[in-house]
Amino acid sequence: RAKLAGRNQYAVYESAWNETGSVHLRTESLLQEALRKDQFVLHFQPLFRLDDQTLIGAEVLLRLWIGDDAPLPPATFIPIAESSGQIVEIGEWVLRRVCRQIHVWDAQGFPPIPLSINVSAIELSRADLTPRLSHILDQSHIPVARIHIEITETAIAHNEDQALANINALRAAGFEVWIDDFGTGYSSLKSIKNFPISGLKLDREFVKDLAHSPAAEAITGSILSMARQLGYPVVGEGIEEAAQLQFLQQHGCHAGQGFHLGRPVSPETFQDCYFR
Ligand code: C2E
Ligand code: MG
Ligand code: MG
Ligand code: MG
Repeated sequence: RAKLAGRNQYAVYESAWNETGSVHLRTESLLQEALRKDQFVLHFQPLFRLDDQTLIGAEVLLRLWIGDDAPLPPATFIPIAESSGQIVEIGEWVLRRVCRQIHVWDAQGFPPIPLSINVSAIELSRADLTPRLSHILDQSHIPVARIHIEITETAIAHNEDQALANINALRAAGFEVWIDDFGTGYSSLKSIKNFPISGLKLDREFVKDLAHSPAAEAITGSILSMARQLGYPVVGEGIEEAAQLQFLQQHGCHAGQGFHLGRPVSPETFQDCYFR
């Protein structure tokens, strides 16, 4: 019965996705239901320092279990949650669940790595972002150093003045703020010139062509050298091959993330694989 219901919901979700008119109403209610029924889950992808392969953190990536086969990736539901505004509530749910996970891991004596959460353009354009996040940390008794924030250049461009105010407030509250997907968004260079950020995550668009394309190597090498001169650490994203890892290592990239180093996995798998 439950299985059938699951399949059914998935079918509704898929058909809703294809017709424009009623997409919002139907999927919004699915997202509401997902929050109520606890159908969201967090996956964690490890971040490693490149010089010695030490685990230095993990990125939190949201999944939605509606059917029973495989979880839906964020690309299928985050855009809807953004346009409906539900991303604000979902973002709060993510942070609360991350805090709970930190307590579980701390209780087992695992290393206190920071966890990086993704904050969307909608959240970044609201004036109450920092107090909302800080409140959840206070309630959960989690120190701010345990949470890193990832925002994209495009999210900054969505409402630059509010983004600047929010980044200032986040930094003042003690959060690290990283630029995600660096180099592919809107006005990359401006985002690092004018905003008080903690570091850059180099988009996999550049990483994927390393060792195949001299242009990708020249651009990546220049970004790494610029970041070094500005004092920003860089995380290379989407490392899928040893040759890409080697290029990044040789060009002073500080840390890396990607399928070659570790895929996003459930918290149980994460602790079995990476906390040993
Ligand atoms: P992102 O923040 O840039 O996250 C990295 C994405 O790259 C993840 O996709 C991850 O699974 C994928 N990835 C990591 N290593 C590799 C690799 O070696 N090769 C390839 N091909 N992909 C790799 P995912 O989990 O599908 O998430 C997609 C995007 O959804 C994220 O991009 C982020 O923008 C957004 N997202 C995920 N979770 C949340 C969340 O809790 N809140 C918000 N607002 N957005 C989220
Ligand atoms: Mg991210
Ligand atoms: Mg990214
Ligand atoms: Mg991305």
